Amino acid sequence: MPEKVTVSLIKADVGSIAGHSRPHPRMMEVASEMLGKAVRDGLLNDYYVTRCGDDMQLLMTHRKGENNREVHELAWNAFMAAANEAKKMHLYAAGQDLLSDAFSGNVRGQGPGAAEMEFEERPTEPMLVFMADKCGPSAYSLPISKIFMDPFTTTGLVIDPRAHLGYDIEIVDVVDHKKVLMSSPAELYDILALLGDTTRYAVKRVIHRSVGIAAVVSTEKLNILAGKYVGKDDPVMLVRCQSGLPAVGEVLQPFAFPQLVAGWMRGSHYGAWYPCAVDQSDPTYHDGPPRVCSLGIQITNGKIQGCEAPGSKPGDHKPIDYFAGREWDIVRNKAMEISIYMRGHGPFMPGIVSPEELEYTTRPDILKKLEPRMQPL
Ligand SMILES: [Mg+2]
Repeated sequence: MPEKVTVSLIKADVGSIAGHSRPHPRMMEVASEMLGKAVRDGLLNDYYVTRCGDDMQLLMTHRKGENNREVHELAWNAFMAAANEAKKMHLYAAGQDLLSDAFSGNVRGQGPGAAEMEFEERPTEPMLVFMADKCGPSAYSLPISKIFMDPFTTTGLVIDPRAHLGYDIEIVDVVDHKKVLMSSPAELYDILALLGDTTRYAVKRVIHRSVGIAAVVSTEKLNILAGKYVGKDDPVMLVRCQSGLPAVGEVLQPFAFPQLVAGWMRGSHYGAWYPCAVDQSDPTYHDGPPRVCSLGIQITNGKIQGCEAPGSKPGDHKPIDYFAGREWDIVRNKAMEISIYMRGHGPFMPGIVSPEELEYTTRPDILKKLEPRMQPL
């Protein structure tokens, strides 16, 4: 049986320039140096360091399986090294997402987010890597529902005999830390009844009945983990495509709808999701609007293959930057129009999130102060 490959995408915001914008290139360099050494030492097969907005992204391939202690420790140490560079330069929020001083076996629960999948490599293995900034993990629930459950988006669900088998959807309750595996299309309406509540439920995994793992999302809820506001999750997602799974175009199509997602400034506003190139992912309007980037790669013999020449050195990759094209300008323009409209609400709902979702609030103090003045109606 062929050896399985694991793709691990681990991300964290460990400091940025002039607010919540982008990591300094030196931070990316020190992380790349550490991942490069891990390839030479045989821990990793390959890697690519990138970013979305202020979040550093470590894309790694290896043969160690999900939740591997050595791989997670490597990512943790790379983020620590980058945070040290950020501290030296007095960058904003240096080390923000590293919630403890010492690594404790797995990055989950310690601040960074992780999307990992282990699978047997198919003869050709196209993969899309999604990275979002200034929003929570449920942002992917609407596009996932369309990609894997809506035949009006994914024609393959109807006309491809392999896709016709359907999917199992693992849904997490990010508040109570529970999960449930549900079956699509048999339980479609029940699935959507949960996922529609984006304050609580998010998709963690999508599993095809014959191909296996199809998609995985990072669902660590930072604000709850830390017990106080330390930034939104800014989730990532890996999606395998083609040959029984949705085509690349079917996976990208739902992002042409600039849905409202919770996050943005202070993690407390609704803004329209703005698809853009990695180089265009600096938050430029009211610390946003919330961004999403999509990179296309192949997984080839356990390594990453983009547009670089085959056999180029590890780490030196040129993925397809899917939202870079002008075709997406119309979506970006619409997203900006919607985001400006939403900002018109100022501190009023639905411009801001519900009271339970606010990252911080002055209301308890105000109510306490007003208590003596409160009169029965
Ligand atoms: Mg961020």
